[in-house]
Amino acid sequence: MQVLKFGGTSVANAEHINKVIAIVQQAIQKGRTAVIVSAMGGITDALLAAAILASEGNETYKEQLLLIEQRHLEAVKALVPVTQQSSSLSMVKKHCNEMEDICNGIFLLRELSAQTRDRIMSYGELLSSQIITQRFKTVGIDAEWKDSRELIRTDSKYGNAVVDFNVSNQLIQEYFASSAKELFIFPGFISASSKNVTTTLGRGGSDYTAAIIGAATDAEAVEIWTDVSGMMTADPRLVANAKIIPDISYQEAMELSHFGAKVIYPPTIQPVMKKNIPVWIKNTFVPNDYGTLIEKNVKKNGSSVRGISSMNKVALLSLEGSGMVGIPGFSKRLFESLANESINVILITQSSSEHSICVGVDEVNADKAKQVVDKAFAYEIETGKVDPLSVEKNQSILALVGDNMKSHPGVAGKMFNILGRNGVNIRAIAQGSSERNISAVIATNDVRKAINVLHEEFFETTNKQINLFITGVGNVGSRLLAQLQQQKQYLQEHLRLQVNITGLANSKKMLFNDDGIDLSNWKEQLQNADTMNLFQFVNAVKTKNLRNSVFVDVTANDEVAKVYEQLLLKSVSVVACNKVAASSTYVNYKRLKDLAREFNCLFLFETNVGAGLPVIGTLNDLLRTGDKVKRIEAVLSGTLNFVFNNYNGERNFSEVVKQAQDEGYTEPDPRLDLSGTDVMRKIMILAREAGEKLEMDEIGNNSFMPDSCMKGSVEDFYKTMVKEEAHFKSVYEKAAKEGKKLKFVASYQVGSSGEGPGKASVGLQHIDPQHNLYHLYGKDNVVLFYTDRYPEQPLVVKGAGAGAEVTASGVFADIMRTAKS
Ligand code: ADP
Ligand code: ASP
Ligand code: MG
Repeated sequence: MQVLKFGGTSVANAEHINKVIAIVQQAIQKGRTAVIVSAMGGITDALLAAAILASEGNETYKEQLLLIEQRHLEAVKALVPVTQQSSSLSMVKKHCNEMEDICNGIFLLRELSAQTRDRIMSYGELLSSQIITQRFKTVGIDAEWKDSRELIRTDSKYGNAVVDFNVSNQLIQEYFASSAKELFIFPGFISASSKNVTTTLGRGGSDYTAAIIGAATDAEAVEIWTDVSGMMTADPRLVANAKIIPDISYQEAMELSHFGAKVIYPPTIQPVMKKNIPVWIKNTFVPNDYGTLIEKNVKKNGSSVRGISSMNKVALLSLEGSGMVGIPGFSKRLFESLANESINVILITQSSSEHSICVGVDEVNADKAKQVVDKAFAYEIETGKVDPLSVEKNQSILALVGDNMKSHPGVAGKMFNILGRNGVNIRAIAQGSSERNISAVIATNDVRKAINVLHEEFFETTNKQINLFITGVGNVGSRLLAQLQQQKQYLQEHLRLQVNITGLANSKKMLFNDDGIDLSNWKEQLQNADTMNLFQFVNAVKTKNLRNSVFVDVTANDEVAKVYEQLLLKSVSVVACNKVAASSTYVNYKRLKDLAREFNCLFLFETNVGAGLPVIGTLNDLLRTGDKVKRIEAVLSGTLNFVFNNYNGERNFSEVVKQAQDEGYTEPDPRLDLSGTDVMRKIMILAREAGEKLEMDEIGNNSFMPDSCMKGSVEDFYKTMVKEEAHFKSVYEKAAKEGKKLKFVASYQVGSSGEGPGKASVGLQHIDPQHNLYHLYGKDNVVLFYTDRYPEQPLVVKGAGAGAEVTASGVFADIMRTAKS
């Protein structure tokens, strides 16, 4: 005997039913076959909806029933030749009349009992199975239809009846022994109590029907035919790159389905596992796909985790109180009070202090649970020994499942680490002693993100997705987009990173696409997008709640710098080219750094100093590995360097400055560079990174700019520079006479112990040819780190320290750092 079960989508319409017929035609070559079918897809829900409408006094249940009737009549007409249609059509009519009578009764009484609910839902399978039987006959295959209610006997727990295996097995065996047929068709899902009242096996229960019949007949195999090519590593509706699991153990399949993998109804495994009957999950629409084989012993595969599933609509109940510690009987009373109301407990955790017991239950039972538990503990609540039961709804359970997790330390660590980094708060954790399942209770809102990051972490063949929200598409921003586009394929192939630009904004417009904005025409798309609103942009980052979200600030805007805090609080990493935040007050800088640490994300601003040069990264590496900074000397302004490298008293100073601005090295107002303010910000950031609590007004600035130049507009500034040419020339000549070069140098000196804080200053210096800072060309920056390990010969970081291309690449590198973390 072989048992084949076809689900709702497999029998949804005539076209699909023909595929079923073809599969069964092949199967019967191998021997006796039992076929179990579900209701046509959506019919069980529609029947239930009609009954509920009727119970609410809403007459539209009649229209609902008509639609149901039509679907079945259409199927008959398409599957059965006109000459043979009459018996099938009248069968459909007869059932539909009964359904209508029942619903009329519900409507009149305004009452829908669990018993009636089962009765009305049973028509879906009764109809589909008989239509399919008729179809077999019309294509010349002799098939016997048998009402499962005559064979599968249960108690009277309507909606989720418990099977009496002793009676059912015997009835099933007798039935097959009494028939000489080769092909049998059964309606799934439905059963009957000992009093012959219709019961059902629970939603999705046709799988279970197949297992019951398979086990009773010692079938060679049970095949569950559905609309996916097997059991997958995660729900494909939640995880786009979920993979088929070719082989899985009974236990694993049971755990995965119990925790939400809908592809198989959880009780299905039990009866077949007892008899060691292999179960196949196959795809009706791609029958040649291998599918999934569920059996006893399964080969190890690469990952210790076999699959991840999630279950929504869970409520977390917590019983807490100091009066519980060390006193036996509390848990017994808790579980007893729940059991007395038939409230199923999905998950249990208790802290070792015994201060609290947490249980997860189906959300529909939450209010009832609160009632009965508070009643059971009324005395303890009144005397303050325990608190009233706390109930939290909108929770979900996330479960990692795999037989081999047992022998792999670190799976739980990895799981919680990655969830933490994505700002997913874990309310409760449970691990069975079999170590086959690690479950965590999280907010339903976080499920999609959580399951996707875990999937990326545990199934190596999938890409890790990074979601970027970029503000600012000026010089640097647009270069960054070009670089991201150019590297897209490389990152996918070599680093398994899929970098999505999920949000993009300039000061005027903002654009979102959860699948990643197509970068080939982002300018056009942005032009036609919604008006930019920073509040809404940030809100979108938060509410989209996507995994590995990174906020990238390529503006120089104060307001944008203010939003970092709320993003870090949500574990969204921030990559800033904008210097405003890191050079704001020390308190703010420190708070942002602390938040990043606390919420397991990164706040990176490498390009704040030396553009793309690895300055901050190098400093951090030195400190992390135990080195101590003594002194930092640096030329940190590409603009000033360019200006002093190109100015020799022949061309006007103002002309050289203009050239620097035209070539894109300066801040929009070049005075920020020339005054040394920008350099002050940079040395302050370096000093802060080295551990110094430094503010801008504590930095000395020996500026060379005449005061007159610093007033008025940028235009005025160019004019006054011309007037001050003599001043610039004398500054230059003083140095040239000594054979030295002018460099605008920033320095930071650590305060030696007992001497108080360190000091930082910036100013123009005459540099002689032996000095490390002498040979600097174009827009180069250089940073000299004098440390314990590099006492005399400093560690030198040198190279182009300005320009859109290199700055963009620095931002890109920071983004990659967030991806690797
Ligand atoms: P049927 O009607 O054939 O019984 P179901 O809808 O009950 O089909 O189950 C199949 C569906 O289960 C798939 O279409 C898929 O969306 C969903 N599903 C959820 N989790 C998983 C998983 N881990 N593997 C495969 N499918 C899953
Ligand atoms: N038709 C029933 C349901 O939708 C049973 C099944 O399809 O397995 O729940
Ligand atoms: Mg199903």
